[in-house]
Amino acid sequence: MKVLESKKELNEVLKEWKSKNCSIGLVPTMGALHQGHLSLVKRALADNDLVVVTIFINPTQFDNTEDLDKYPSNLKKDVALLLSVSKEVVIFTPSQTEIYDGNVTSKAFNFNGLEKVMEGEFRTGHFDGVATIVELLFKAVEPTRAYFGEKDFQQLQIIQKLVEQSHLDLEIVPCPIEREPNGLARSSRNERLSQSTRKAAGFIHETLLSAKTKFGMENAKNINEWVFQQFHKNPVFELEYFEITDVDTLTPTTKIQKDRKYRAFVAVYAEGIRLIDNIALN
Ligand code: AMP
Repeated sequence: MKVLESKKELNEVLKEWKSKNCSIGLVPTMGALHQGHLSLVKRALADNDLVVVTIFINPTQFDNTEDLDKYPSNLKKDVALLLSVSKEVVIFTPSQTEIYDGNVTSKAFNFNGLEKVMEGEFRTGHFDGVATIVELLFKAVEPTRAYFGEKDFQQLQIIQKLVEQSHLDLEIVPCPIEREPNGLARSSRNERLSQSTRKAAGFIHETLLSAKTKFGMENAKNINEWVFQQFHKNPVFELEYFEITDVDTLTPTTKIQKDRKYRAFVAVYAEGIRLIDNIALN
């Protein structure tokens, strides 16, 4: 297992593999790895000759300095976890200066409105930061494939759009959401929850499952109201948004069309920690 901090070292390793025509899988992460990340790594290992896992807490995608400051980080633990899956993975963990070439700012992107709703609406500049770092990582690694979780479904759609708009020669591979035994979507932020709240947070997925059951029987407005009521009655969780959207456009839906695919999205605060989740409705 190699842990590299500079683009130069990374280049040297990649050059060797690429000269043999090997495929490269990229798994971008912000560290504090868990089984969700490992599922992406396992998929990438199955599909490619070499896998690069990047560990970088990207400051430009945080609109809240407290969230950035408190973001968990433990490289030693991350390395051990990756070793449990493979000894061959290359870890690229650059400094801010290294990856941003000294200019730690976001570019401005236009993703035809995908970036304006939900996470984009509530986290100003978030997707400019995400697209900026992902573009820099794509440039540094030039992967054959890159792996992203459906846990961040809006991010996944935006990265697909980035690849399309910039005519990048790589495949984006979506990976399903990994959950804790109570249904809570695995997240690095879960570590910051108290034990009792983490246990209670199964409620988020349960509510999404109920919304899915209601979908097809009731209209989107009624489902929205029902979900808001459930959260209103629950003192532990504060709902930031719940939306039923078209999968491709991510625009909130009022009228459900038979030939379209829909998904429900939720963002919730618990003990000041922001959690997101989503579910396919049909
Ligand atoms: P992060 O470290 O939170 O930036 O996540 C890195 C990648 O792992 C992103 O593509 C996430 O969507 C993905 N990911 C995070 N949590 C999960 C999960 N519970 N299931 C599947 N993928 C995940």
